[in-house]
Amino acid sequence: MKRIKSCKTQLFPFRQDGALLERDRVIEDLKQKLRTKEKEVDTLFHRNSYLAREVRYLTDVVQHLNQKLAELEADQQEAREKIRSLLNHRPPVPPARTIIKPSVEPSQLRQVSSLTHELNVSNKQLRSTVGQAMTDMKNQLEELKGAVGKLAQVEQEAAGEVEELRSLYRREAVERKSLYNKLLELQGNIRVFCRCRKSSASGSCLEKTDDQEVVVVQKGNKKKFQFDKVYPQSSTQEEVFAGTLPVITSCVDGYNVCILAYGQTGSGKTYTMMGSKENPGVNIRSIRELLRICAEKEKVSYTLKISMLEIYNDSLNDLLSKSPGTALDIRVQGKSVSVPGLTQIQVKTESDILNVMETGEKNRKIASTKMNIQSSRSHLVVALEVEGSDEVSGLTSRGTLTLCDLAGSERISKTEAEGQRLVEAAAINKSLTALGQVFSALKCNALHIPFRNSKLTHLLQPCLSGDAKCCVFVNVSPDEKDTVETLSTLQFGSTIRQVSLGKATQNIVPAKNNKTAK
Ligand code: ADP
Ligand code: MG
Repeated sequence: MKRIKSCKTQLFPFRQDGALLERDRVIEDLKQKLRTKEKEVDTLFHRNSYLAREVRYLTDVVQHLNQKLAELEADQQEAREKIRSLLNHRPPVPPARTIIKPSVEPSQLRQVSSLTHELNVSNKQLRSTVGQAMTDMKNQLEELKGAVGKLAQVEQEAAGEVEELRSLYRREAVERKSLYNKLLELQGNIRVFCRCRKSSASGSCLEKTDDQEVVVVQKGNKKKFQFDKVYPQSSTQEEVFAGTLPVITSCVDGYNVCILAYGQTGSGKTYTMMGSKENPGVNIRSIRELLRICAEKEKVSYTLKISMLEIYNDSLNDLLSKSPGTALDIRVQGKSVSVPGLTQIQVKTESDILNVMETGEKNRKIASTKMNIQSSRSHLVVALEVEGSDEVSGLTSRGTLTLCDLAGSERISKTEAEGQRLVEAAAINKSLTALGQVFSALKCNALHIPFRNSKLTHLLQPCLSGDAKCCVFVNVSPDEKDTVETLSTLQFGSTIRQVSLGKATQNIVPAKNNKTAK
């Protein structure tokens, strides 16, 4: 503004007339214009400063907005990061929870519709199948009812058949046993075996010619003896036992069986009967075998009881008694012979047998020491009672196996025959003579058999009379010094071999009347 005022004074200093007036007017006009322009400039200036202010303000606003935007972008980024991390750490969605999509596609709808159709069709088929199955089942049930009726009828018939078979079994069993016993009868109910003791002596008075014959050589003379079997010196305990086996087994069927060992002291009687621990004799082997046979028979239940007694000077001593030394007596009831008060011990296993035998032997030793007796001066009797009850036939049987190791049969010399030895010798002689007499009476079918002549024969009566089977071992020494005794023993053996005991009978009774028939 100041600059325009100074300019006016310099342009119009010389002219004041018309032209000057014109000039003044123009100047005035120009001045007016200048003022207008100045106003305009002023306005524009104002406007400019306003706009500048506006620009500044707007710049501030934009800057602020940019800042906000940056913040928002940062927030957004952060939010994205959070979502991502949340998605990453989200627990697995259980498979059963299917995410149901809110929208159903037409292709799926078509598929569902076709499936529904198929389901309807198969439902119809299923119904018809079930209906058919029900009808079939009803028919089968009817058939089954008929079959059950028939089955009951068949069962009734079968029961009859079973009963028939049972009686057939009974008859068959009896028949089988009877045939077996006929065979034994043909062989004789008394079987006599000769066993030669093993000897280390050089000379031998015995010659075995075949399985059944033995020859005694005495001063150049030969004497032959025949037996059911001759066991040479080399014979084993097994072989000897095998000879008695057929007789022993019939004990299970209710027969009385007796095995005797006869011979002079030192001829091998005890070895044959009892044997050694390592190599047991007939006693243990036969009881073991009977236990085995009884265990094998499924339909028959057996009870086996052992008793052991000693006969010394014609009196009976119970070897299994808890109070030994009590004199026992023999009781006769009809044809049955028993020893009341005699201890019987049930045996179930082999160790039971061994235990019982051991007890008996121990008691025998104690008694003999106390009374100063040698074991060879008394008879040892081991008896096994076998009682069986047949579940099928309903019958019970009772058989007894009597195993007897006799006192030495030698005759004592006159010099020895005094005091206790004389009494002993007399008793042994009496009992063995009685045994010989019984066999002789049996041999001639005598009406009277002198069983009661000694305790030994009396006790053995059931094993020696009609319903029994008997094996006698005549034990002989091969030593030349024993020739006389050997001859005497063989003579005794061959005499009893000619004896027939007659037809053996079984001790069998029906279960209801549970008494042993004799
Ligand atoms: P016994 O009882 O007749 O008096 P033993 O049986 O005691 O006779 O026998 C006398 C001895 O001979 C015993 O030592 C016994 O072991 C032995 N003996 C007997 N027979 C045989 C044999 N067949 N084998 C081996 N040794 C035997
Ligand atoms: Mg002996």
